Amino acid sequence: MKKTILLLLALCITSMMFADNFVMVKVKDQQNLRELFNSKDINIHYYNDNFVLATAEDLNENMILLDDKSFEDNDLYFIVYCEKENQQSYIERESAEVLFSNEDLLIVKPLGENLNPAKNDGMVAISNQTARLAQAHRDFPTVTEENQAVRDLMNEVEIENLTITVQHLQDYERRYYNSTEAYAAGEWIYEQFENLGLDVEEFEFKHGVNASSPNIIATQWGTKYPDQYVVCGSHYDSYSHSGMCPGADDNATGVASVLETARILSQYTFDRSIIYCSFSAEEQGLVGSAAYAKFCADMGYDIVGYFNNDMNGYLQEGSEIHIDVIYPDNVAAIGDYYTSLAGVYFPEMQVRHVVFKSGDSDHTSFNNNGFMGIYPFEDNEYHSPYIHTGNDVIGASVNSFEQSERFTHMNIACVATLANLSSEDVMENEYNNVTIFPNPAKTTLTLKAETAGVKEAKIINSLGQIVKEFSFETTTTVDIKDLNNGVYFVKILGDNVVTKKIVVRN
Ligand SMILES: [Zn+2]
Repeated sequence: MKKTILLLLALCITSMMFADNFVMVKVKDQQNLRELFNSKDINIHYYNDNFVLATAEDLNENMILLDDKSFEDNDLYFIVYCEKENQQSYIERESAEVLFSNEDLLIVKPLGENLNPAKNDGMVAISNQTARLAQAHRDFPTVTEENQAVRDLMNEVEIENLTITVQHLQDYERRYYNSTEAYAAGEWIYEQFENLGLDVEEFEFKHGVNASSPNIIATQWGTKYPDQYVVCGSHYDSYSHSGMCPGADDNATGVASVLETARILSQYTFDRSIIYCSFSAEEQGLVGSAAYAKFCADMGYDIVGYFNNDMNGYLQEGSEIHIDVIYPDNVAAIGDYYTSLAGVYFPEMQVRHVVFKSGDSDHTSFNNNGFMGIYPFEDNEYHSPYIHTGNDVIGASVNSFEQSERFTHMNIACVATLANLSSEDVMENEYNNVTIFPNPAKTTLTLKAETAGVKEAKIINSLGQIVKEFSFETTTTVDIKDLNNGVYFVKILGDNVVTKKIVVRN
């Protein structure tokens, strides 16, 4: 009897969970967006400047009902960017139910296993996860004049390196997210980061039931604030209807910018940690970056900013090199930061804040997981017309490596300034005379300070998680038997902060 009640209860709860409506709510302004996020009536899964997509038990007059059985027979909905004139042919080709359409996009529920993007536009997969509104929880520095050290880093960019990377990735011929070639490209990117001495990992995830080639994540640890992260990224998967998808502009150019940034910055030390990402399954709806950004949010990562690199090698004939920056209104702080840096380092160059109408990219995954992310783009209207075709190759589609170089300069300026080049005197403070031994450490770790006064200490693992927290005055010995082998950071906080790297070999 008891069991039956429990079973009934479980059934009730399950059906309640699936009884929600999938709705769209138009966003009036920023204040309204914050109110929607604070509302108990809806659970938001996606937001942009114009609308949110959410689930709600009860409907009200502000909601547009899209599906009265949300996520019941599908794991994902999709925003498919597609101009009005192409929408009919798209629907005829794809197996999907249209829930909403306007001039620029469709919101659909896939009926088959797979859904493809419209010709050269993007898609965003909407999952049942709760979105987080991005907030600046740390200030962006105000930059009004050139920093010679940052300018020197920018000057290290070699166009030849960008060309070699784009050619190499193009030569795979197709990097469709779950193809053999995509896995091979991912491995090659992994090796490039590894050769720079970075901490590299394969971040695995699935797209629906299918395995995907992994995200490749490389970390350069900060010396002062290793648990604060500046992130830059690009996607390495490609797409076309024809099978051949060399993806030179979309997006070997972005991968080349991130690899070149890593090559240069990895030779120096920075206060904050830097994460270099290469995502997969972006063309399937920002799937790889969504999995990673959610992971970062769930782990409580302190990400100060995300800089996206997607398509920077095509320049319309007769145009001058310029940058269109894309970001939602609520992350204007990072937009202002980007624009001010461009104004300082390239005062002649035009930088426009635009509203992206024909697609989306991985910065949106960060923005929807509570982080500040921005997308500098080659041109909102006159971007490469060859993307998502077999002609996305060097020559036609990547016709200006000078422009790729400029985007790389800007990526370096943004990341290096925010991560802050380490000044040697940072380490020369009163806590620098804390000795930590042995290193590598086994079973115990001893901290010995020469000055009196209470010091707070944390041991942080390579994922940025605090694994131990304690305070001490002059000397203490900590049991570390429970720590796995690997690299850790001991952070000692007082008036100043000192971080020391240790290796544990248990
Ligand atoms: Zn792309």
